[in-house]
Amino acid sequence: MKILIATNNKGKQKEFARILGDLDLELVFPADVGLSDLDVDETGSTAKENAYLKAVAFAEKTGILTVADDSGLEIDALDGAPGIHSKRFHIGEDTDRNQRIFELMDGIEGPEKRKALFRSVLCLYDPKTKQTDYFEGLFYGYISREEKGTDGFGFDPIFIPVGETRSIAELGIDYKNEHSHRALAIKKLMTFLENL
Ligand code: IMP
Repeated sequence: MKILIATNNKGKQKEFARILGDLDLELVFPADVGLSDLDVDETGSTAKENAYLKAVAFAEKTGILTVADDSGLEIDALDGAPGIHSKRFHIGEDTDRNQRIFELMDGIEGPEKRKALFRSVLCLYDPKTKQTDYFEGLFYGYISREEKGTDGFGFDPIFIPVGETRSIAELGIDYKNEHSHRALAIKKLMTFLENL
C-alpha cells in the first residue's frame, strides 16, 4: 500500500519514516510527487480541522492515500497557547519561538506551574472513497528554563517529558519515537492500517 506523508517538515518526516519503516508500506513524501512547495493554509480552529485540510489538499492533488499531521504545544500557564498556532505564533526560527515562550513564562517557577503537553492529530484521507479517519497522541511534560540538546526540532529543546530531567532534544530520537505524541498517534494509525 502506498501512503503519502503530507508534511514538508523534515523533523516530522524523519519520525514517520522511522516508525512506519517496519510496515510493508510504500511511503512517499511531498518532494517525491512534486509538492515540496505546497503550503496549506491552516484556517481551521482545531488540530483536527487543520490536519484534515492538509490531508485533503495533498490527496486531491495526487490521488494517493494521504496522512497529515497537525501538532502543537499547549502550555497550562498560557491557557493552552500556542496550541494550533505553534508554527506561526512568533515569526522567526525555532529558537526564536523557544525564546518567546521563555519570555511569556517569565516569573512562572517550578515544573508544576510550567506544565505543558504536545498534541498530534493525524488525518488519514482516501481521495477515492473520501473516507477520513483520525488518530491522536498526547505527550505530557513541562517547559524548561533554557534550550538544551540538538536531536530534534521545534520545541524539543525546551520540553522535558514527565519523569525525565532532560529535554526531548537531549533524550534523542529513539526516546521520542517510543514516547512522543506523534509516535503514539502513528502507532494507532499503524494498528488501523494493519487491520484494513
Ligand atoms: P504544524 O503541525 O505544521 O502546524 O506545526 C506545529 C508547530 O509545532 C511546528 O512549528 C513545530 O515546530 C512544532 N512542533 C510540532 N511537533 C513538534 C514536536 O514533536 N517537537 C517539537 N516541536 C513540534
